[in-house]
Formats: sequence, C-alpha cells, structure tokens
Amino acid sequence: MIAANDERVNLHMARAHAAIALEGAEKEACREEIRALLKARNAVLVAHYYTHPDVQQLAEDTGGCVSDSLQMARFGKDHAADMLVVAGVRFMGETAKILSPEKRVVMPTLEATCSLDVGCPIEEFGPFCDTHPDRTVVVYANTSAAVKARADWVVTSSIAVDLVDYLDRRGEKILFASDKHLGHYVQQQTGADMLHWDGACVVHEEFKAQGILDMKKVHPDAAVLAHPESPAAVIGIADAVGSTTQLIDAARHLPNPVFIVATDQGIFHKMQQEAPGKTFIAAPTAGNGAACRSCAHCPWMAMNGLDNLRAVLRADDALGQEIHVDPELGRRAMLPLERMVNFRR
Ligand code: SF4
Repeated sequence: MIAANDERVNLHMARAHAAIALEGAEKEACREEIRALLKARNAVLVAHYYTHPDVQQLAEDTGGCVSDSLQMARFGKDHAADMLVVAGVRFMGETAKILSPEKRVVMPTLEATCSLDVGCPIEEFGPFCDTHPDRTVVVYANTSAAVKARADWVVTSSIAVDLVDYLDRRGEKILFASDKHLGHYVQQQTGADMLHWDGACVVHEEFKAQGILDMKKVHPDAAVLAHPESPAAVIGIADAVGSTTQLIDAARHLPNPVFIVATDQGIFHKMQQEAPGKTFIAAPTAGNGAACRSCAHCPWMAMNGLDNLRAVLRADDALGQEIHVDPELGRRAMLPLERMVNFRR
C-alpha cells in the first residue's frame, strides 16, 4: 500500500473556511435572490446530504436534489437545465461536468476538496496501477478526474459491495482506491481478492469505537449507524452500515428511538425529516483536542453556504467558480463513470 500524503491533506484543511452564516431577513432575501437567479439562468441546485441545512432546504424547495454522490451524478446527468450548481466538494462538480460536458457546472467554491481526493494524486496512483496490470482498477467517486480516467470502474459507497461482488464472481482481482476503510469493508463483505490504496476520510477516521460503546451505556436503546469510511472497529459494533442514503433508510426503518451516527452531522437534517420524533447523536470522535481534525463535520462541505451560492449565480462571479475538465481526460473518465451510473443489481 502507498501512504496518503498527510501533509498535503493538512495544507488543504488549513485553507478551508466555513461559509458565512446568514440570519433572519438577510437570509430570506438571499434565498429569494437565489431562487430568482436559478430560474433566470435555467439552473438547478444539486446538493449533498453533508451540506448546511439551509442549502439542502433550498435545493428541495427549488426542484433540485439533495442526495448522495451517486444520485447527484444521476440527477445532474438526466436534468434538462443548462447549468448545474453543485453544492458539495470538487470531485462532485467534476463528475457532473464529465457526465454532462454540454452543461455549465459551477460550485459555491472550487476550494472545497476531499482528503480522499487529495490523498490519491495521479502521479502516484498511475505507477501503482502500472505495477499491478492484472487487477481491475476500481476507484471511489471521491477522486480526481485524472484518477477516474485511469480506472475501469468508479463506485460510490452505495454500490461498492455489489459491484465488487459482481467483479469477483467474474474472477477479477481488484485494485481499490482511495478509501482503505471502505475497501476493507467491501473485502470483508465479498471475500474478493483486493489490493488497497492507503487513503482515508478525515471525518470518518476520527470516530472511536470505545467512545460509542461508552455512549451506548448512557443510551442503551440506541442503534449505531456507521458509514463504511469509518474504521473497522466502529463498523464492527454498528447496527447498520451503509452509504448516506442507506443510513437514512435505516434511521427510518429501525425501531430504535435514538441513533448514534458515525458520519458527517450534515446528514441529521435529512434524518430528522425522514424520521421525525427520533433522536440523533453524533458518534464521538477524539473531541475538540489536538487529535481531532474534523469533529464529525467535513471542513470542505462546510464551505458551501447561501452567501457564496448566491455569489456564484450572479453573472460577474459565475465564471470564477466554474468547473472545467480537460476534454481528453473527461472522455477517458466518462466510461468508468457511465458504468457507475448504469450499474444496477
Ligand atoms: S466527509 Fe470525508 S469523504 Fe466526504 S468530502 Fe469530506 S473528506 Fe471527503
């Protein structure tokens, strides 16, 4: 395995500034202006579950989409709008652009990245693949366009187990990037022959199994929900493991009144909508001390807010935050991405 570049990740985290929070009448005026701008530009807002509740609510209210990265990709590809406004992190905007090269794709900020993307540079990943030519290259959606262009398949956490199981049954050996925890979880579920890239999510890697067990003593009727980017010890004590959409489904269907949730806290907005009356508690991390870098909230998802969303929709500001993907790179990344959006089991 190759070590993810921790220094590079830290540098990007230092640059991440949470979006400006608007309140009261100012917030309402901003929301109204965004609604009008979306209409005027024939644009649609596509937001991830981890973004601020204000952004999620606006996407829902304006006929956009709030979802996981797979559904975001499918929604943007199929929508008739001229412009996709992607509230999330950069790889989501790039994915939208690759799948819809004819559309303009803009983001509230292009600075919002992901530790799994930063920690898997093509300059290191390409040679890693070259040394294992017998393996099918499966990469997580949380990677750059260049890494996707080097892959045979792109997956999200919602289809990773099913897809690797499908490839394993065809006798294929897998090279998996960029999240080692997700990769090991998939391997444990499928028994596939997998080689892993050593990357991790700065948010999920912080969750602590012992802290969750301590919390369960206080809330004995709680169920634990964990995203598979979490460490194996956390996954091992979870009542449900899955993608964001699968965890929201679990919150709705499990009978427990309380949930300890090991994923980004942004998801609580949708969980509360879908399972009203239930209580959601963030799974413990290392706390606010030196050892905790994210404390259950992605620093890059937090860069999306109403203020910079409005700014990007105003004519003079839009160009600066537009996603461009090299056409040749986009053409090569299109095939593994289309395999992802079309994969159904
Ligand atoms: S929560 Fe983790 S995987 Fe998701 S965008 Fe942030 S760093 Fe990347």
